[in-house]
Amino acid sequence: MPALLIKNVILNNERKDIYIKDGRIETISGKLELEADRVIDGRGKYAIPGFVNMHTHAAMTLMRGIGEDISLMDWLQNIIWPTEAKLTDELVYWGTKLACVEMIKSGTTCFNDQYWNLPAAVSATEEMGLRSVHSYVILDLMDKSKSSFLKEECERMYEFSKGWSSRNTFSVGVHAPYSVSPEMIQWAAGFARKRGLPVHIHISETEAENKDSIKMHGLTPTKYLDSLGVLGPETLSAHSLWVDDEDIRIFAERGVKAIHNINSNLKIASGYRFRYKELKEAGVVVSLGTDGCASSNNLDMLETMKTTALVQKAWREDPTIMPLDELLSLATENGGKSLGLPIGVIKEGYLADFSLIDTESVAFTPNINFMANLIYSANSSCVDTVICDGKVLMENRMVEGEQEIIQMVNKLYKQLL
Ligand SMILES: [Zn+2]
Repeated sequence: MPALLIKNVILNNERKDIYIKDGRIETISGKLELEADRVIDGRGKYAIPGFVNMHTHAAMTLMRGIGEDISLMDWLQNIIWPTEAKLTDELVYWGTKLACVEMIKSGTTCFNDQYWNLPAAVSATEEMGLRSVHSYVILDLMDKSKSSFLKEECERMYEFSKGWSSRNTFSVGVHAPYSVSPEMIQWAAGFARKRGLPVHIHISETEAENKDSIKMHGLTPTKYLDSLGVLGPETLSAHSLWVDDEDIRIFAERGVKAIHNINSNLKIASGYRFRYKELKEAGVVVSLGTDGCASSNNLDMLETMKTTALVQKAWREDPTIMPLDELLSLATENGGKSLGLPIGVIKEGYLADFSLIDTESVAFTPNINFMANLIYSANSSCVDTVICDGKVLMENRMVEGEQEIIQMVNKLYKQLL
């Protein structure tokens, strides 16, 4: 793989050269005189780790704006699921490509996805050069007649995933404890555990979900899942918004990772009191996601970080609750930790997934505090260059194929309406 050298970039407030080989950050130093196939002039730019979007449904870019101003259950049952029944491989392929363009342009280099038509989604991601974890989604709506099909498909997709590049890995998706039968949840968790795969699941997204779970099982969704024996360090719990003290204790004990998706939660009015402080104090790894574009409308992790911090500060009436460095870690390093990947940090030995931020703009003037400007002042148009797996996916905000992708989605999305 060709070597890449970034010269004179600002990294943690110091001027550095970064040398990348075989997709990894090999050397970071004040001045490097090394041969490289490509040299990027980093003057005026700051290097930050690529964002890790820990919860999304990428091809939902196709449904941006489709169901506005309604509640989660109404939205799912009356808008999303009927629309998704019309998805084809072609639609998912182009929708995922559009999502990749959007993520690249906003500095995301890795995403943890849960969506349909897996082979189409993965080939789009492979072509766009992003890193991803793609799950085969189990959603049986308590219908036992679906289980043998789902099991066979999951197995088949897992085998198929062995042909993916090292950038894209397989996980098992369990839609939610209210939409998947206990037998299938247990089967999915067992399948994942045996093969060392993550399990990507929605837990306690709404208060109604908790109330229904208590009515049905006498247990919160977390305690119900724990009673099935399916929670473990491989569990990636999207939302986790309505967790009580006991749920948090279980998360910590089992090593469950929590993923906060504030913009989606706010917009569908699922809630906003994500118990970051308690989860952190219990030792739970917390990361951030955008959720799909049909609920949060974009895949912008900078916006996600800003909203996360503002809501936490306001709700807790405490401006110290979410310091800038910690906030950046939620969007980068903690995603890497949750997925068990050496990403989210610009450090020798880590995978070369990072962005260069252009600070020559009003948003960064004066540049007293780069991180504050980045998160609270700028928007993602400050992302100039994106490198993933040592390859340049964007330079000067140009992403290859962007126009064609926009045109194709504009042509195809009508099939869903
Ligand atoms: Zn979701």
